[in-house]
Amino acid sequence: MASFSLGTGGDSVAEVGAAADWDADWVKALPKAEVHCHMEGCIERDLVRRAARRHHVAVPFDEGEDATGAPPISSLADLLSYLDFSCALIDQADELASIAYAAARHATASGACYIDVIITPLHWQAWRGRVAAMVDAIDGGFREAEQDGLAPAGLCLSINRGESAGRAREMVEWMVQARHPRVVALSIDGNEQAGSHNDRFAPAFALARSHGLHRCAHAGESSGPGGVREAVELLGAERIDHGIRAIEDPVLVRDLAARRVALDICPTSNRILGLTPDPSRHPLERLRAAGVGVSLNTDDPLIYGCELLGEYVETAETFSWDKGVLGSIARTSIESCFAEEGHREELVRALERYLGASSGEGPAAAGEGPVAAGGTLGS
Ligand SMILES: [Zn+2]
Repeated sequence: MASFSLGTGGDSVAEVGAAADWDADWVKALPKAEVHCHMEGCIERDLVRRAARRHHVAVPFDEGEDATGAPPISSLADLLSYLDFSCALIDQADELASIAYAAARHATASGACYIDVIITPLHWQAWRGRVAAMVDAIDGGFREAEQDGLAPAGLCLSINRGESAGRAREMVEWMVQARHPRVVALSIDGNEQAGSHNDRFAPAFALARSHGLHRCAHAGESSGPGGVREAVELLGAERIDHGIRAIEDPVLVRDLAARRVALDICPTSNRILGLTPDPSRHPLERLRAAGVGVSLNTDDPLIYGCELLGEYVETAETFSWDKGVLGSIARTSIESCFAEEGHREELVRALERYLGASSGEGPAAAGEGPVAAGGTLGS
């Protein structure tokens, strides 16, 4: 359980800002990427139910009329335990493919043009020792999604912080040897409180980096600002998943802005897990105002019952953002995503055309927003 709470002190900036010059349709059509979404959080409830029946186990949520509601999760420990339960049920390749497809469909419904999806093999017990088969099955789902016009996806293979250095290295060695075109990055997640052990995983991240793989890391969620700094400096993370507790260290905030390390923030997840009970005091606005690149994401959308469009709309309403701010958030999401460089540049151009057309002043200038177009992160 997260034993801290952000935003209970400090200034709320929710009152500041202009009247909305956008509506939900405009936000939906805004070109953007989703960069923090877990495969584990994209398992449709019906699939969990069907798989549980096949394995003769009970589901830990209401099967009655309320069955579309979220399972009883109010802490990171609850979440990790539910993920272990639900993912362990999935032992068929076509189930993995359908989860991948659902992730793409869900993000596309909110207007995402590209998604980076994180998967932590440790959760998927039936696939232990069969990473290649697991990735192939997921790849099939994403390929079908793309053929159907849904957002293309990159896969970030994630180490759980409870794993050994040897297991982490083994996974990276597979990534390096296989060079599967779907796999774009190495990631790390799990409970950051049980000792961050970033030093234990530094060699695996260094190996990934030396072979041109992208790196992202969960930090500053259940760890403090020190966890964020270590993720950047020890793991070479180009992008931080969450990272919101960086706000507790002004020097770190300045460094993140200067080094253009973006934070992919998930407001609904933060609220449900108890980090930010009051959305109007979420540190993302202070981080953004300090020049840190922030994007909005869903984390585990089918567990929290949230969607990317809702994250944009609700956050924009909370902080009275205008189109300019929304455009800068979308820009950060695209510039920090792990799509191939040419694809990323194409998405930035689509965003500029959209912003230019909606302002009636021609394409918006490159370089607006906290992270400049084409900027490298974390280098
Ligand atoms: Zn996450």
